[in-house]
Amino acid sequence: MVELKNVSVTYSSGVDALNNVSLKINDGDFAFVVGSSGAGKSTMIKLLLKEIDATSGVVTVNGYNLNKLKKRKIPEFRRTLGFVFQDFRLIPSMTVYENIAFVLRVIDAPIKYIRKRVPYVISLVGLHAKTNSYPDELSGGEKQRVAIARALVNDPQLIIADEPTGNIDPELSYEIVELLKGINDQGTTILMVTHEHDLVRHFGGRIINITEGEIVFDEVITGTGDELIPDMDSEITPEAMAAAISEAEAAEDTEAAEMVNTEEAIDLPIENMTADDIISAIGGIPDAPEKELMKPVKENIDVDITPKPKSDEPTPQEMLAALTEKTEGGAE
Ligand code: ADP
Repeated sequence: MVELKNVSVTYSSGVDALNNVSLKINDGDFAFVVGSSGAGKSTMIKLLLKEIDATSGVVTVNGYNLNKLKKRKIPEFRRTLGFVFQDFRLIPSMTVYENIAFVLRVIDAPIKYIRKRVPYVISLVGLHAKTNSYPDELSGGEKQRVAIARALVNDPQLIIADEPTGNIDPELSYEIVELLKGINDQGTTILMVTHEHDLVRHFGGRIINITEGEIVFDEVITGTGDELIPDMDSEITPEAMAAAISEAEAAEDTEAAEMVNTEEAIDLPIENMTADDIISAIGGIPDAPEKELMKPVKENIDVDITPKPKSDEPTPQEMLAALTEKTEGGAE
């Protein structure tokens, strides 16, 4: 559940990015947020992730009052959310399986659970055949499906998708929204930010339009239907998703047993990761990186985290510094 009550955000530059916005999205809802560039959409997302604080008003997400949320509770809160970004933010050196398993490793999930849950969400997004592929071996639509599986793996109450179709072919955009709709049918609340009006018109549903920091339209409209979709003969129709769920449930024990080299598969090449990789993979910024992020990595996985100065990538120490910096939060 998402609720904004008379929320305003004024940046230190004096820009009023959101102006007295009130909004409620109930559990199980699917809502599109639309608006032109500079309207305040990203500001709203940052508020919902508690990357910034409201200048005034009350923000409640999944039962957490974000105005009162203590810094040390932020990671716990963020684990109730899944994020999908326009640019996918997959880790190039990890396979599909590893990109998804990584999220559960970071939060110290039991290995048995990881071995069941990861193949399950991969099946849900119709990518079983790509389990061991690397991101650069996938199409844009497939990459986004991996990102959606990653957002789903922690069983979040709410998925926030920020322009998830922005970097993929238009015809695949419909497939991505179909997939999100299928996930929504299973009970997950979805908030999708987009500027693709054709997509919104086609699907219909609840449309929230932000213009110049204000909600100027918030209504349920009827979608125009199928004619805009060139090829919806995809495996991720609602029926196919229901079938995938039964299939995944029936197969999950077998799949776990068959998963070869699982220990290797979840080895984390953390020294090659940027701060953004980590933030996106775990769905947020840990409050105390040394404890929340590094501890499970150090204890469970034999990874050399000594600095690698030869690389252009930041060292783990630099990454942690960047994370800590970002954790400062607050409207700028
Ligand atoms: P959208 O995501 O709809 O494009 P934003 O939320 O990014 O809109 O921006 C809303 C307004 O706030 C714009 O006028 C933008 O220039 C301003 N803005 C966004 N981020 C900052 C910031 N960090 N500091 C100052 N102004 C900002």
